[in-house]
Amino acid sequence: MDPLTVEDMERALVMGCQVPGCTHENHDTLYLDQRCHPKAGVSARYTKGSGKVVIECFRCKKPVFEFLVASSNQQN
Ligand SMILES: [Zn+2]
Ligand SMILES: [Zn+2]
Repeated sequence: MDPLTVEDMERALVMGCQVPGCTHENHDTLYLDQRCHPKAGVSARYTKGSGKVVIECFRCKKPVFEFLVASSNQQN
C-alpha cells in the first residue's frame, strides 16, 4: 500500500461518495461517510508508528476509509 496520491482521490471521487442515496451528480466533493450508520459520525485515528490514518464508524468502529501518509524522511 502506497501513500495516497491526488490521483487516488480523484479516482475515488469519480466512483462517488459512500453516503447512502448519493447519486453524486450535483457536487464535486467526496464525502467519506459510512454506509453502516450514516448519522453516527466517524472518528479518525492515527496510531504511533503505523504511518496510517484510519477513519472509522463512531458507532460500530468499522473502517470507512484508511490511507498511508508519506514520510518526509527521504531515506525511507
Ligand atoms: Zn456524492
Ligand atoms: Zn457503523
